[in-house]
Amino acid sequence: MSQDYEVVIGMEVHAELAAESKVFCRCRTEFGAPPNSQTCPVCLGMPGALPVLNKKALEHTMRAALALNCTIAEYSKFDRKNYFYPDLPKAYQISQYDLPIGRDGYLDIDVDGKAKRVRIRRVHLEEETGKSVHAGDDIISATQSLMDFNRCGIGLMEIVSEADIRSADEARAYLSKLRSVLLAVGASDCKMEEGSMRCEANVSVMPVGAKEYGTLVELKNIASFRAVHRAIQYESARQIQLIEAGGRVTRETRHWDDAKGQTAFMRSKEEAHDYRYFPEPDLVPLLIDRSWVEEMRRNMPELPDAKAARYAREWGLPQCDAAQIADSAALAGFFEATVALHPDGREAAKWLLGDVSAALNATGIELSASKLTPEHLAEMLKMIASGMISGKIAKSVFEETFNSGAAPAKVVEERGLSQISNTSELEAVIARVLEANPGPVADYAAGKERAITFLVGQVMKETRGRANPGEVNRILKEKLSH
Ligand SMILES: [Zn+2]
Repeated sequence: MSQDYEVVIGMEVHAELAAESKVFCRCRTEFGAPPNSQTCPVCLGMPGALPVLNKKALEHTMRAALALNCTIAEYSKFDRKNYFYPDLPKAYQISQYDLPIGRDGYLDIDVDGKAKRVRIRRVHLEEETGKSVHAGDDIISATQSLMDFNRCGIGLMEIVSEADIRSADEARAYLSKLRSVLLAVGASDCKMEEGSMRCEANVSVMPVGAKEYGTLVELKNIASFRAVHRAIQYESARQIQLIEAGGRVTRETRHWDDAKGQTAFMRSKEEAHDYRYFPEPDLVPLLIDRSWVEEMRRNMPELPDAKAARYAREWGLPQCDAAQIADSAALAGFFEATVALHPDGREAAKWLLGDVSAALNATGIELSASKLTPEHLAEMLKMIASGMISGKIAKSVFEETFNSGAAPAKVVEERGLSQISNTSELEAVIARVLEANPGPVADYAAGKERAITFLVGQVMKETRGRANPGEVNRILKEKLSH
């Protein structure tokens, strides 16, 4: 990218609330249920049906807003956002306009070891829309469109950041941190693949040092963290190219096509909906009690930043390793269960971020679904610490445990992998190696100390890595000095 431009990004994230029932009725919210099996007059927008706010949905939104360091409104209300679309049977969405539940917060992110604060403008509560299902290969060739209203009325939280993000890397870090915070407070399951977390990016470019932001383009339909990164990179390059060629960026909404790897024009801002908002007359305004907010604040679970700081303090982990573990609920849970059994945080972290993560990536398995348990890892770390197996053997033991779920101690026993520290056993192997390698022995005698490395290697080879290297070194030196 050209050095002369700066990218300016603001993010809008929608996260479905983790609640068993919808936000204004008692319909269930289970994902993948038969179409229209989870609906009622309220969420279908039948005349006369009255919404009632689900307290759980409000709590989740407040908890998320608190975790994002927002101020919680004392007085809030719901508004109708009016627009006609087939997936919205009422022709309005219950949302919040001028008085969101949370505002003026922030989220700290870390990109390549550099800390950065992204301000959060607002966190508000609204309802989901339904879903159109086009019968055919795509929307153009479809002969009919069907509506599934199961999603209609599920509680949705919208989190809007200020335009503080300056690169695709920062955008990805922001999303990933936001996800870990929402998961930590249990406000949403944040499954992007099921659409329960979705994001839009507002992207503009400006000459470095400029005071005024460039014309912003809205990017929609971004379905993964990877896609966010690609979409922003593509779009900012497109805008810069356009400006350099003497053109002008127009205010528009673009769609991200992940298969083609490009953004495409969707609608210009002039054609965009001019929503007519007005206060929702069927719901009373929200007066949020301060003592309730304070109680919630006191009962907040430990958030990823605090967790990372604790790991660094308690176990001496490097800050970035601590953050990497703390940001993932799965890794953090595994880490804590492991160190509870074997108190060596540094080793546990090293394995989790090294071999364990590599194996998960290679197999595409989630940690929670893998056969590896904290008991396994702790058992292996104990065997390494006691010198029963070498670090190298541990790697192959780990591989088998990861694949089959067999206990490491059992793998070691069945495959005869325990380290040979027994002096007489080692002496016999060493004697054979010395006899077979007169050259290096003579070299060592002539003062070439490095020749011993070769001999140690031969002993390790003979014992298939099971010899204790420290012992081998000691015995070899003793024999060679005679
Ligand atoms: Zn309903």
